[in-house]
Amino acid sequence: MTTTRFAPSPTGLLHVGNIRTALHNWLLAKRSGGRFLLRIDDTDAARSREDYVEAIRADLAWLGIAAEGEERQSQRFALYEAEFERLKGEGRVYPCWESPQELELKRKVLLGRGLPPIYDRGALALSEEEKAQKVAAGDAPHWRFLLDRDEPIAWEDGIRGPQSFEAAMMSDPVIRRADGSWLYMLPSVIDDIAMGVTDVLRGEDHVSNTAAQVQMFTALGGTVPRFAHEALLVGTEGKLSKRLGSLGMAQLREDGIEPEALIALLGRLGTSDPVDPALRLADLAASFDLSRFGRAPARFDETELARVNAAIVHTLPYEAVAERLPDGMDAAAWEAVRPNLAHVHEAADWWQVVTGPIAAPDLAEEDRTYLASAGEVLEGLDWEPGVWKALTSALKEATGRKGKALFLPLRLALTGMEHGPDMGAMLPLIGRAAALERLRAV
Ligand code: GLU
Repeated sequence: MTTTRFAPSPTGLLHVGNIRTALHNWLLAKRSGGRFLLRIDDTDAARSREDYVEAIRADLAWLGIAAEGEERQSQRFALYEAEFERLKGEGRVYPCWESPQELELKRKVLLGRGLPPIYDRGALALSEEEKAQKVAAGDAPHWRFLLDRDEPIAWEDGIRGPQSFEAAMMSDPVIRRADGSWLYMLPSVIDDIAMGVTDVLRGEDHVSNTAAQVQMFTALGGTVPRFAHEALLVGTEGKLSKRLGSLGMAQLREDGIEPEALIALLGRLGTSDPVDPALRLADLAASFDLSRFGRAPARFDETELARVNAAIVHTLPYEAVAERLPDGMDAAAWEAVRPNLAHVHEAADWWQVVTGPIAAPDLAEEDRTYLASAGEVLEGLDWEPGVWKALTSALKEATGRKGKALFLPLRLALTGMEHGPDMGAMLPLIGRAAALERLRAV
């Protein structure tokens, strides 16, 4: 069974890039009836915050992305410790004492000689006695994972194709700090094994981590999962804007973005398949296919998000939005204004137009006379659903006006606006008394 996971660090709000990763992992699992897990990477106690954990859960729930299980790395330290001891016993992790300054100097020397800045494994040359002395002096080491330089590193990336790395060209990664705290690399692999993760799908910024982690899976006796790395997410003008790169979903929600719009757009982002506002999670899962993803940066286009959002708003049934509408606004009113909305919250503006008071329209003198007769005509009509049609037909007949000259002054007088929802639906909502009053007020 396919098992995927989304592993955010709760050190900030989820932005569209994180949501893309979460969604694609969910789709990858669900496409074959698999499991999707949430793993909170909160090993960094100083930077992790509980309110971010809650925001992550709330955002996923809002989007309809449900996890089959949730694990927190901060509750799994005993497991990491045990696995670490095992690797230590096997000589796959080793203590190091270089200070950041020393390491930086070593790097500079190598770069200066035109050599790749690979860690020289200086710490491996220390004798047992030297190490014991340092420990006795209270000088705690940090720890590195010993890469096997004879073992080539290769994997078939679900998006990037065949990948291969030379362990000899890589530094042994630091996996644990001198204060005992964990870096991301090793706990992630321990968890992926323990949680039975079969597929790791994440951003291409993790490719070099994967190269080291492939050996960690093997060293821990686990099965190396299938890996796939998605291209960078960028905005329309290059880098993802600061706004989108740091904005949480709560902000997008406040801006009036529907979860379905983000799902429809992000579900296809990175492929050349068209974005279809009608597609929901289940549809996207059924057609999700890593081979459709390209290696070129994926562009997140806010204009397209707005377009998809509007298209979705135009199909939302009253029941789906009722609690977000102003008091008194019923299904007929929602259906009347819905085609004119880019966001659900704009319904309130049209409801204000219906219930009044409305802005006094700017009218030409001849239109005032025309509207006065419109009031008289309307007074004589039966107040029934087709009243707008009856009114305009009668006025056309009586005045010879047509097109804009026939309709616009009426719209202006009745709504105070030049554009808006179909008057055939608006007039019955405005009601007879208010309509007559507005025609007479001009
Ligand atoms: N916490 C890591 C991150 O947010 C997880 C990476 C991974 O998916 O392995 O980058």
